[in-house]
Amino acid sequence: MVEQVQAIVIGGGIVGCSILYGLAERGMTDTLLLEKNELTSGSTWHAAGNCTHFGHDAEITRLYVNSIRTYLRAQEESGQSVGFHKTGSLRLATTPDELASYERLVPIYKKLGIPYQVVSPQQIPALHPLMNCEGVLGAAHTPDDGHVDPTGATMAMAQSARARGARILQQHPADSIRRSATGVWEVRSNDKVFTTTRLIVATSFWAREMLAQLDIDVPLYALEHHELVTETHPDIAALGFELPTVRDPYVSGNVRQEGKGFLIGVYEKEPVAWNVDGIPPEFGRELLVPDLERLMPNLERCMWRFPAFAQVGIKVANNGPLCYAPDGFPMLGPVPGQEGLWLASGFHVGIGTGGGAGQFLSEWIATGKPPYRLACVDPARFAAPMDTQTAVSSILGHYAAGYATPPMDVAI
Ligand SMILES: Cc1cc2nc3c(=O)[nH]c(=O)nc-3n(C[C@H](O)[C@H](O)[C@H](O)COP(=O)(O)OP(=O)(O)OC[C@H]3O[C@@H](n4cnc5c(N)ncnc54)[C@H](O)[C@@H]3O)c2cc1C
Repeated sequence: MVEQVQAIVIGGGIVGCSILYGLAERGMTDTLLLEKNELTSGSTWHAAGNCTHFGHDAEITRLYVNSIRTYLRAQEESGQSVGFHKTGSLRLATTPDELASYERLVPIYKKLGIPYQVVSPQQIPALHPLMNCEGVLGAAHTPDDGHVDPTGATMAMAQSARARGARILQQHPADSIRRSATGVWEVRSNDKVFTTTRLIVATSFWAREMLAQLDIDVPLYALEHHELVTETHPDIAALGFELPTVRDPYVSGNVRQEGKGFLIGVYEKEPVAWNVDGIPPEFGRELLVPDLERLMPNLERCMWRFPAFAQVGIKVANNGPLCYAPDGFPMLGPVPGQEGLWLASGFHVGIGTGGGAGQFLSEWIATGKPPYRLACVDPARFAAPMDTQTAVSSILGHYAAGYATPPMDVAI
């Protein structure tokens, strides 16, 4: 039996569920999400959940801003907690260029109505008493930042979409996709066939192989990404508030409070790509083997920056695959030359941008127009095929740069 629906989303991570929710909010509820395992099975379930308002690019900042708002709205609507901790963030400047670039962002945030200030090293101890400020010239302070529970945020959006009429089928892999002679998209899943005129691929690092069956080449690959959680530290336990997240170009990592200990996400200088020749078919809700030795240069700097970090043991070490595009931006929008086919994959900051991405794409699908200009994520930028070696070396270079300041667009 063939069933026709208004839209099909493939992939039940935070991005796919956010799109389903965004469509439902816009009145499109004859919709279906297909997930091959359970919701959040890919990268979403083990992410740290950091959400910032700090986007280095004026365009993409809107995705960050709209993400936290979307999660909180879904929480309100569904009753499912998204576990938001509003801790604020400090993004350290260790060079005059970094400091100047943060100062140039002040008018952007003013225009967006987002609290943002550049603080001096003398102001930092009041915000973060456990940090060694040596070599710090200042910091971008975004007080409305924080972290969410990625599973809670995904479930809140999924439940809100369902409550409005959208359907979610778990344990339903999209086994094949094709376009019929009439231009309708046909998706086979288990023993069922679904058709639609709007097909959205939100399958992260599975998207390249999925689209290859349509002879569409997308340069999305995965690399390994670590996060570590420490035991409780008495100085953190004694604080009367939760520490802000710190993004430090010197450590090349982000460090925040988790429980009464630290959580650190590390951007290695020599990152390792994961399965560039194809994702193993059996890969599902899994982690990779951690390699702490590789992280030592970052961890040593982290111990210097946060002396308390050196005094506690590491209780959790997660290594998970992370999807990346060669320029570090996701692929979000229509696939050129393929009417009705939309891409929403390649998110490496998918918790920080997933909520906003769902709002952006669903508005475009529902109204036929993007809500604002977001050229940096347009899939058309990779219309020309890119060989694996070029794509992967660009991805690794981008990742290794960590929090080094790229050029910024301060046009808005
Ligand atoms: C260690 C670590 C820490 C991180 N911390 C943060 C953080 O603090 N903040 C942040 O913003 N980001 C963080 N990330 C990144 C974040 O996890 C991802 O950007 C985000 O989860 C991507 O969401 P997604 O929906 O695009 O992909 P996924 O969550 O991977 O979802 C894709 C889904 O598609 C499904 N799928 C695949 N193929 C098919 C098919 N054929 N049919 C049906 N379904 C299919 C998969 O099962 C999966 O559920 C972290 C990542 C890692 C590895």
